[in-house]
Amino acid sequence: MALPRIVIVGGGFGGLAAAKALRKTPAQVILIDRANHHLFQPLLYQVATAALTPSQIATPIRTILRKQKNTTVILGEVTGVDKERKCVFVSNADRDNVPVEYEYLILATGATHSYFGHDEFAKHAPGMKSLADAVASRNKILQAFEQAEAEEDPSRHRDLLTFILVGAGPTGVELAGALAVLVRTTLKSEFRRINPASARIVLVDRGPGVLASFSEKLSEAAKQRLKNLGVEVLLGHSVDEIDADGIMVEDERIPSKTVIWTAGVAPSPAGAWLKAETDRAGRVRVQRDLSVPGHPEIFVVGDTASLDQNGRPLPGVAQVAIQGGRYAGNLIHSRVTGSLPRPGPFSYFDKGTMAVVGKGFAVLQSGKVQMSGFGAWLAWAAVHLQFLATSSLRLAVFLQWAWTYATGQRGSRLIVDHHGSEPGLTPKRTVVKPAA
Ligand SMILES: Cc1cc2nc3c(=O)[nH]c(=O)nc-3n(C[C@H](O)[C@H](O)[C@H](O)COP(=O)(O)OP(=O)(O)OC[C@H]3O[C@@H](n4cnc5c(N)ncnc54)[C@H](O)[C@@H]3O)c2cc1C
Repeated sequence: MALPRIVIVGGGFGGLAAAKALRKTPAQVILIDRANHHLFQPLLYQVATAALTPSQIATPIRTILRKQKNTTVILGEVTGVDKERKCVFVSNADRDNVPVEYEYLILATGATHSYFGHDEFAKHAPGMKSLADAVASRNKILQAFEQAEAEEDPSRHRDLLTFILVGAGPTGVELAGALAVLVRTTLKSEFRRINPASARIVLVDRGPGVLASFSEKLSEAAKQRLKNLGVEVLLGHSVDEIDADGIMVEDERIPSKTVIWTAGVAPSPAGAWLKAETDRAGRVRVQRDLSVPGHPEIFVVGDTASLDQNGRPLPGVAQVAIQGGRYAGNLIHSRVTGSLPRPGPFSYFDKGTMAVVGKGFAVLQSGKVQMSGFGAWLAWAAVHLQFLATSSLRLAVFLQWAWTYATGQRGSRLIVDHHGSEPGLTPKRTVVKPAA
């Protein structure tokens, strides 16, 4: 008898957890991702600030699943789903919209950044969602110091050394803190014409506080810490314009050559593929067993799913995706094998949230426990190491962190122009005409 086919779209936190939960299922599991790697997004800001290399936070998906004999990994982009024919359409380097059939489908396609209707901002303010984004931001940041050092007119140094981060959620706060440490430690003695420590770092958010998902006390502690690190925190201010030379915040212009977008996220188009009900943000409304209404064979998990628990929507964090993916995998396993009892409704267990603010300081919130300072930072470091995909990454990142902590030196400070089209990166070349 042919084995049932289970298709998982996405090899992020949700998709990978689902695949692992299906490792002993007598089924043909196919995991499709448009990237060949699983990315540990919580550490993207460390790539952007040159603390870690891209390969220290990402691992090929097929390496992670190499021992899982029932699972095939396909590199390809899913472009749609046909619920009636029970197939997804996949495009890759040389084929478009190839139908791949399924008996069960798990969509774990995550989210991307959203410019809140201002897509024109993207050109001047890269987001922080993929490895390419983080490397582009790293290039921009390091390039600004190089340009300032080469600039003989000191009046231009101020604009070149102003870094603006839009969005004071965990990514913006972590990036601002890491940037402040970078300019005051690693870069401090390497330049002659400029003083990197004089760099201006501005964190802007239209909300009233930083880290809105944390308690007021922790949000205040994070804000104070940022200020101690020299970060200017501009709250209650919307960014109205972003161009190549800076931003407009309400009526004030802040000149800057480096603006990074760390604000909103938008889910993948899974809702449109499924023609399913979505919430206001566009996430697919799923049932308590994470399936799509009317389709018990289709599950949506992680950032692209919407489910309320205790009257509140589950947050877009890694643990929700991991627990959701594992749950969907276990439920399908029990259906395929007929094993009883079947898992009850999905229930998210909140293990807590953390954010790091510069060297040796984090905020941690878990149930009634609220901590800030060095102890929270140690917990943050231990948890992040634990959740990296492989033991080799855990060891590499641990050693890198220990080295950086002790010496201030960074993992990767290379300006590498992979695209050849980053604004300000491609050197202007003088065309030398051949002699006639
Ligand atoms: C910068 C940043 C920092 C974060 N920090 C934290 C943190 O500190 N703690 C925390 O808990 N959470 C954090 N998060 C959120 C967390 O990373 C997400 O909640 C989590 O990744 C969601 O998992 P997922 O499986 O739903 O999606 P993802 O992990 O994003 O995975 C989605 C996968 O689907 C693939 N994919 C998407 N579309 C397609 C398609 N059409 N075809 C094929 N493949 C596709 C993608 O390539 C990707 O591999 C952070 C996120 C970002 C961006």
